[in-house]
Amino acid sequence: MCIFCDIIKGDIPSRTVYESDNVKAIFDIAPLTKGHTIVLAKQHVTSMLEADEDYAAAIMKETAALAKLIVAKTGADGCNILVNSHEAAGQTVDHMHFHIIPRYKGDDVVELHRMPSDDPDEVFRLITE
Ligand code: 5GP
Ligand code: ZN
Repeated sequence: MCIFCDIIKGDIPSRTVYESDNVKAIFDIAPLTKGHTIVLAKQHVTSMLEADEDYAAAIMKETAALAKLIVAKTGADGCNILVNSHEAAGQTVDHMHFHIIPRYKGDDVVELHRMPSDDPDEVFRLITE
């Protein structure tokens, strides 16, 4: 049972703005801004953290092309490409998807809040050693 697999199969209707062998791009049901689109991977994989990297890269490539088109057509001032991976990062549907969120000056819809910083030397060692 996966809602995005049902959308890909066509069992649940969606506004499909673009489709290829790898992706189905649809309007988000609760858009953050005008043109907010989600690019669904056609193969079910939980998130980018579980995905084959070449597959994720292929989807990113199509997402980048689509983002250019959506920004041009909507007249947005910019966009966020957002990939939430796992619940801690805000993922609510466990099927890999990329958000294209067109941004309009002053809209304030996406804001990240900084945490107090850990010791950067320690974190650097943790990641690089
Ligand atoms: P996440 O929070 O997992 O990164 O994003 C899931 C997104 O899917 C949310 O922005 C939510 O509004 C959208 N969504 C959830 N269910 C549906 C649906 O049935 N149809 C469409 N078009 N979007 C959905
Ligand atoms: Zn799925």
